[in-house]
Amino acid sequence: MSDHVIDIEHLSRSFGKTQALQDVSLRVPRGGVYGLIGSNGAGKTTLIKHILGSHYAQGGSVSVFGLDPVTDPVGVLGRIGYMSEDRDIPAWMRVQEIIGFTRSFYPAWDTGYAAELLELFELDPKQKIQCLSRGQAARVCLLLALSHRPELLVLDEPSSGLDPVIRRDILTAIVKTTSDDGRTVLFSSHLLDEVERLADRVAILHEGRILLDQPLETIFESFHRVTLHFEDAQLEAPGLEGAIQSQGNGRDWTYVYCGEKEQLTQAAKGLRAQIVAQGPLSLDDIFVCHVQRS
Ligand code: ATP
Repeated sequence: MSDHVIDIEHLSRSFGKTQALQDVSLRVPRGGVYGLIGSNGAGKTTLIKHILGSHYAQGGSVSVFGLDPVTDPVGVLGRIGYMSEDRDIPAWMRVQEIIGFTRSFYPAWDTGYAAELLELFELDPKQKIQCLSRGQAARVCLLLALSHRPELLVLDEPSSGLDPVIRRDILTAIVKTTSDDGRTVLFSSHLLDEVERLADRVAILHEGRILLDQPLETIFESFHRVTLHFEDAQLEAPGLEGAIQSQGNGRDWTYVYCGEKEQLTQAAKGLRAQIVAQGPLSLDDIFVCHVQRS
């Protein structure tokens, strides 16, 4: 059994003149929580649609559970739980009807778990979908994605429409339980504090390209904010190897630095500068920095 549930190699996709994905390679390890972050239009949903086999690869390849999701949709989709960004479920159905309908596609459907989630999400099974609030519809979609206990849970902007309690407590519990069971979660989000809380590994997608793809721990260990004090006033930021952003004036310049602390000390010495402040960066800072730089 491969250690990777998803294996994407050099995937490219365009819609007319819009290049939605450019040479994207991504491997999602089994049993982890993978957070996909990116600005509006970055290509997150397009990438997810390739994983589900709704789009074929114009360039490169997509493999899920070692299978091609376009040519083997039954083999792939039966093992995936998916919550779409636009929560597209038939408005004319009642909650219990959509549950019954979806159940018929999944032999592994867990009726007891579905009933548990119905109660947890405070949903009325007799309610028509069109009468649900956005948040209630999101809860129904989450229930449908989870109830066959999929090997791979794919959530496109899961927090969109969910209130803070469901988001913080229940979504967190679901994601953690899924990964503790050895199953895999891939989710996209704009909420970087949520990604920071849930993900083991993070990929930043920007204008169709992967800018960063690393375990969260490595990201936090690698990026620091550091202020250097120079002997003489400088008109512009002196070049610091490993720096990806700089600002300041005169003798004090602050950098976003990526690399080992030891190398930073050596680089500062080489510039005859003193490190006067050093601190961690939030995922938010790291994201903005990468996007601005690109
Ligand atoms: P958001 O966070 O706003 O949902 P996203 O990262 O999910 O954005 P995508 O929906 O993947 O981004 O879109 C990536 C780019 O591809 C955008 O420029 C979008 O307009 C374009 N695009 C996506 N799907 C189609 C389509 N079916 N036809 C034409 N253009 C498309």
